[in-house]
Amino acid sequence: MLTLALLALLTACEPAPPSPWPAAAPAAVVVDAPPADASELALERSWRRVIVDAGHGGEDTGAEGVSGALEKDVTLAIARLTAVELVRSGFEVVLTRDADEALPLPKRSGRGNASGGGLFLSIHANSATTPLARGVETYWMDLASDEAAMRVAEQENRAADLARHAGGERDPFDALVAELRQGAVALQSRDLAAAVHRELIGGLRGYYGEERILDRGVKTAPFWVLVDSEVPSILVEVGYLTHPEEEGLLRTRAWQAQVAAALAAGVSRFVAAVEASEASP
Ligand SMILES: [Zn+2]
Repeated sequence: MLTLALLALLTACEPAPPSPWPAAAPAAVVVDAPPADASELALERSWRRVIVDAGHGGEDTGAEGVSGALEKDVTLAIARLTAVELVRSGFEVVLTRDADEALPLPKRSGRGNASGGGLFLSIHANSATTPLARGVETYWMDLASDEAAMRVAEQENRAADLARHAGGERDPFDALVAELRQGAVALQSRDLAAAVHRELIGGLRGYYGEERILDRGVKTAPFWVLVDSEVPSILVEVGYLTHPEEEGLLRTRAWQAQVAAALAAGVSRFVAAVEASEASP
């Protein structure tokens, strides 16, 4: 392992370093990286270990809000809060990043695959050319369900495009293998997306009122960050930074906490259903 940062160690240090975590830092959160040879790692996959991916980071700021909020900051804040919620619910969490660092898209799923995580959750915030677009949507990996979904994937895939131009072109065979692998977990990704989205919309509407939260639904699109994942994987777009009111909400701890609680609840619901089906003959 290149990095293994147990949060418990952070809290044990004197003097305490500035920590983004709440007072009760979760000890079951790691920021993980695969070893040089991932096959050396004999970690058993577990439904109880969730990979949480904060979209973008470093030079890749992601979407920019109308008053300057950056997607990379919003996603990291939500990822950390989601980790706290998941740990409270009895899960282990692997964060693909816990700092403002650039992380190429293939590395995100690579870290996830090598960590033994059973689920992959990528957190993003949306943008549009019109300030009127708003709402929350959840994706799983497949062909784009409509033109709007394709545009979202194109925006989120820009970091991968940059990597390709820098000489990191994907091997076509790798892409084919990834496609086949994805087929085996596609239905579980769909179910995970449905469970998480239901909690997101229900939770946000319960807190903010029905009319303030637009349900944009569960969709499919070809995201590079999901294509190499070996486990059920989804990508959530938790609001529009280009919508003035929604940008204001996305910056607040309340919105971030509501989203985090909903993500954890959706994961819990999905895993409980999978474990129940595995337990029955
Ligand atoms: Zn994004």
